[in-house]
Amino acid sequence: MTRGTPVSAHLVWEEICCGCHRRGCADGCTGGVLDPAVADLFERIRASCSSYLGRDCPIRVSSGVRCPAHNRHVGGAAESAHLEGKALDLLCPEGLSLEIFWAVCGQEAGDGGFGKYHWGAHVDTRTDPPCRRWSAL
Ligand SMILES: [Zn+2]
Ligand SMILES: [Zn+2]
Repeated sequence: MTRGTPVSAHLVWEEICCGCHRRGCADGCTGGVLDPAVADLFERIRASCSSYLGRDCPIRVSSGVRCPAHNRHVGGAAESAHLEGKALDLLCPEGLSLEIFWAVCGQEAGDGGFGKYHWGAHVDTRTDPPCRRWSAL
């Protein structure tokens, strides 16, 4: 996929592909492979936040797909769902409290994973084991 390829209504590939493209931490990384379900999850979270705010609510992805070299570079867990293209780190959008953002992300993550962070939330579509929840506060 090229950088500007749309992966869902409000996401383009460059926003979620492996950060090597931006930081050059690995040679030959082509950006990784995305689980399409995670783009759907992003859209559900975005829609839910927009309805809370009563206006369009853009959400920034701080980390999406990671190749092994990049995952090590950012200190990710060895079994991170980011390696499978199943995870997104989402920054809490402007105008929304962290508590509401976490509630939305936890609800929409469903059987997938959800972690609270001071900057926002990690969500993923890995369901084995189901409903993993954690707080990194
Ligand atoms: Zn990479
Ligand atoms: Zn994450």
